[in-house]
Amino acid sequence: MAVEQAERPVCVKHGPMALRASGTKEQAFCGDWYLCEHTEFGRTCGNTILLPSLELLAQLDNQRANLAKGSKR
Ligand SMILES: [Zn+2]
Repeated sequence: MAVEQAERPVCVKHGPMALRASGTKEQAFCGDWYLCEHTEFGRTCGNTILLPSLELLAQLDNQRANLAKGSKR
């Protein structure tokens, strides 16, 4: 499944964003971080976007289900 290229996020102001290497296992678990590296007048835009991983989405679904269970009394 090669979805990375097709779903590459864009900065609203500057266009396609660069994939950031994940620093930690936790970051890798969360998904892929993208960074806008557009630089203007010596300042980098620095917008970031997280494309959540399937593992993270599954965990969030689980948590949501558990919360729903807990609130039904
Ligand atoms: Zn930008």
